[in-house]
Amino acid sequence: MTVVIVGGSVGGATTALALARAGVASVVLERRSEALDKVCGEGLQPAGRALLSGLLPELDELGAPFEGLRFHLGGGRTLAWSFPDALHGVGVERLALDRAMRAALAREDRIDWRPGVALRSLERTADGWRLETTEGGLEAAQVVAADGVASSLRGASGRARGRPRGRHGLRLRFADVRRPAHEVAVHFGTGVEAYVTPLGGGRTSVALLGDGERLAAARRGAWPALLSELGLDPGGTLQGEPALWLHRGARTRRVAADGLFFVGDAALVLDPISGAGMTLAVVGGERCARALARIAGGAAPGAEERAYTRDLHAATRPFERLTAFLLLVARSPLVRRGAGRVLAAAPSWIERLARPTLGVRERSV
Ligand SMILES: Cc1cc2nc3c(=O)[nH]c(=O)nc-3n(C[C@H](O)[C@H](O)[C@H](O)COP(=O)(O)OP(=O)(O)OC[C@H]3O[C@@H](n4cnc5c(N)ncnc54)[C@H](O)[C@@H]3O)c2cc1C
Repeated sequence: MTVVIVGGSVGGATTALALARAGVASVVLERRSEALDKVCGEGLQPAGRALLSGLLPELDELGAPFEGLRFHLGGGRTLAWSFPDALHGVGVERLALDRAMRAALAREDRIDWRPGVALRSLERTADGWRLETTEGGLEAAQVVAADGVASSLRGASGRARGRPRGRHGLRLRFADVRRPAHEVAVHFGTGVEAYVTPLGGGRTSVALLGDGERLAAARRGAWPALLSELGLDPGGTLQGEPALWLHRGARTRRVAADGLFFVGDAALVLDPISGAGMTLAVVGGERCARALARIAGGAAPGAEERAYTRDLHAATRPFERLTAFLLLVARSPLVRRGAGRVLAAAPSWIERLARPTLGVRERSV
C-alpha cells in the first residue's frame, strides 16, 4: 500500500518531491502526457519560491526575480511595496515550470511518475482507497488530490461544498520588452484587472481577469484596446496566441480525512486576483508531505489529518483577507480612490496586507 498523488503540477509535484526528500515513496498520476502551458499570471511569491527552490534548485534560472508589488489604482494613483530582507519572488513561464517539475519527478527514485495516466474513479476500502485509472487499478493507503480547481476527486469523494464559482483569465506574453521590470504590477480597471509579471529574457506575462465575453473579444483581437483602457503598455511585441481559461470550482469541505488529502486549487478556490494560487499549492504540498511522512513513521493518521487541516487554514487565512481586499478595490472605483489615499497615508497597511506573500509562520513539528 502506498501514497498516490493525483495531479503532477505545482501542488502534486511539490507533495511528491517533499515526500521523497523525507524518504517516502509515492505514485504520481498526471492525465496529460505533455507539459501544460497553463493560463496563469506566472508570478510565484517569495513564500512559494523559497519552499519550491529547496526542491527544484533550478527554479530561479527558469525565470526572473521580482522584488515587490506595484498596484495601479487608476487616475494615476500607484502604490508600491518592496519585499524586505532581500526576499524575492520569481516570474516563471508555466510551460518551463511544468517541464522542470516533470523532469524532477521522473529522475527521483522514490517517485513512480506516470504521465498520461488519469484517475477515473475512487472507492473507499477497509484499509484505504481503490483507484481506477486509465491504465488499470491501484490500491492506496493515502490519496492526495492535487487535481486542480475543477477537482474530480472533490466531487467523487462527496466533499464539494456550495455552487462552483470563479471567472475567466486571459494570458498574453510579450517579447522584446524594452523596459525590463523588477516588480509585479497589478492594474485595476472597470470590471477587469491585469497582472504584469517579468519573465526574464526581455519577456513579460500579462494575465487579464474579467468576464468571459470581454476576455473572449480581447483574445479575438481587442486586447490592445483593453490594455490601453487599463493604462498598460507592455512595451514589447505579442508572442504566440492569447490563451483563455475558466478558473472555476466548488469549495472543498474536510481537506484531510479518511486518508484523502486535498492540496492546491483542489483544496481551495481563491480568486486569481490574490496572485497566490501557486504559492498556496507549494505551501500546502509541503505541509501535506510532512503529515504523510509522519504517518509513514507511525504517527496516528487522524491526528496528522487534523494537523494538516490546521496548517492549511493558517497558511490560507491571510491570503483570503488579501484577496477579499483586492476584490473590494477591484469592484469599486470609490473604494479605489479612498483606499489609495488611506494606503498612501499609512504605508504600513499595504505592508500588512501584502505580508502573507512573504511567508507563513513556521509551526514546530
Ligand atoms: C488567469 C490566472 C492567473 C493566475 N495568476 C497567478 C499568479 O500570478 N501567481 C500564482 O501563484 N497563481 C496564479 N494563478 C493560480 C494558479 O495558476 C493555480 O493556483 C495553480 O496552478 C494551482 O496549482 P495546482 O497544482 O493546485 O493545480 P493545477 O496547476 O491546475 O494542476 C492540476 C493538475 O492535475 C491534473 N489532473 C486533473 N485531473 C486529473 C485526473 N483525473 N487524473 C490525473 N491528473 C489530473 C491536471 O492535468 C494538472 O496537471 C492564476 C490563475 C489564473 C486562472
